[in-house]
Amino acid sequence: MKIHDRLLEHFGPQNWWPGDTPFEVCVGAILTQNTNWGNVEKAINNLKARKVLSPKALYELPHGELAVLIKPSGYFNIKAARLRHFLSFLVAENGGSIKRVFAGKLEDVRERLLAVKGIGPETADSMILYAAGMPIFVIDAYTKRIFSRLGFCAKDVSYHDIQGLFMKNVPSDAALYNEYHALLVMLGKHFCKPKPLCGACPLNKMCAKAST
Ligand code: SF4
Repeated sequence: MKIHDRLLEHFGPQNWWPGDTPFEVCVGAILTQNTNWGNVEKAINNLKARKVLSPKALYELPHGELAVLIKPSGYFNIKAARLRHFLSFLVAENGGSIKRVFAGKLEDVRERLLAVKGIGPETADSMILYAAGMPIFVIDAYTKRIFSRLGFCAKDVSYHDIQGLFMKNVPSDAALYNEYHALLVMLGKHFCKPKPLCGACPLNKMCAKAST
């Protein structure tokens, strides 16, 4: 929490995850795999302009048309296939109801999402945290890089182990997990880059790597 507080003091509140509806957030969580958010926004805007950003309309869109619309997000054929797996799960298995997808205990929701082809832990957890508002800590490459440099874990720590570190040490609160993740993204983008800018980093007084 000391790290969170220091980052919040430095960057201020991030009020993160653009997305007008839980469904849009889920689509964004799939599209953002291996790309930046700016590219995802372009793809989402294409879907909105075609008026297909709803479970049923997107489900009925042929693969080729979907792939063209989401092209700005990169890996568009793979992502179109992943979206269609998710849409099939949402529409064919859950009647198009996002509420039904997120009904029940967090662990059960997570297990159901992970069973959908193309949805891994980071994507599932992004959906659970940002679309369902349930408290699970999202781990990404920035988080691993920062926390291994800070000295909390190995570089190649597993998703499960580093997530456990957060869930044990940070109070279980969706708004807090949301903010903390967004702050780590800011640190990873602006200071803790592949070549870190430790001199100006807000965490340099508490970082193992900065003192080496
Ligand atoms: S001090 Fe350097 S290595 Fe440590 S978190 Fe900041 S940028 Fe990363």
